[in-house]
Amino acid sequence: MKTQIISTLILLISTTLLSQQNSLELNPLPSSIEYAAQTIQKPQLIEKIKYLSSDQLKGRKTGTAENKKARNYIVDFFIEKDLDVTLQPFQFERDNKTHKAVNIITIIEGTENPENFIAVTAHFDHVGIDKSVERDSIYNGADDNASGTSALLLMAKYFKLNPPKNSFIFIALDAEEMGLQGAKYFVESNKRNIVLNINMDMISRNKNNEIYICGTRFTPSLKSYFEAIPVESIPIKVSLGHDGLDGKDSWVNSSDHAPFHKSGIPFLYFGVEDHPDYHKPTDEFSRIDPDFYFNVVNFITHTLADIDSKIGY
Ligand SMILES: [Zn+2]
Repeated sequence: MKTQIISTLILLISTTLLSQQNSLELNPLPSSIEYAAQTIQKPQLIEKIKYLSSDQLKGRKTGTAENKKARNYIVDFFIEKDLDVTLQPFQFERDNKTHKAVNIITIIEGTENPENFIAVTAHFDHVGIDKSVERDSIYNGADDNASGTSALLLMAKYFKLNPPKNSFIFIALDAEEMGLQGAKYFVESNKRNIVLNINMDMISRNKNNEIYICGTRFTPSLKSYFEAIPVESIPIKVSLGHDGLDGKDSWVNSSDHAPFHKSGIPFLYFGVEDHPDYHKPTDEFSRIDPDFYFNVVNFITHTLADIDSKIGY
């Protein structure tokens, strides 16, 4: 019976989706997040964030050989997992200079609504080296954003093995630290019907075990979706906010979800509160919280799978 109600709702929702582009209607029934199933392998996740934030990648600044090394690592992983890879080179002007950068894209076609895309994003660049800092000059960017990048890799692997109903496009974005350039270029050149952007930027540590989701303010169906999740079913604290109404810093324009938002695409940005190591050489692997990080990635993966099962019908 419950299933029947859901199907009816979904049918209604799909009609609404067709008539209202750039809006997202979700089944508002409580989600069933089964937390026990571990979809993501923790050792792989940790190995990836450790490599991407290691000193040998020298802070992965856009345009450097080490940024290219990070790019190759991502491409090799996609190829190894039998995922298609498209490189999206672009250039932009900044400080009277032309910079070159490259986004990395892989697509998993949906089994039922291949024309609808959920775009999962994380930037893989960081700020590089600051030679004026004497002792440790490498900005490793473990939390910002080797964390989101490694999560994106394992999520792509997960959905390759568990094909979604809608299509997924995973984009490891370049040049976020130079003004969200990769995301701007991707959105400007995009011709696909993107129904939702999930952006991850800084998801691996928080002293209060808390992850924020910014963006539900603009998409009420997503707000009720998260509010309906039983708190006790998740081993982390999930808070909605930082979207301009709660007196906290607004994160609406703070990362790669901003260009999606500006073009009318619903978004969810997952991130932690700023910490003392934010944009410092001390944002290192040794300071991430592996358990928290793993729980967050598992939670986002489940959320994605659940949302995918509920849209477009
Ligand atoms: Zn970042």
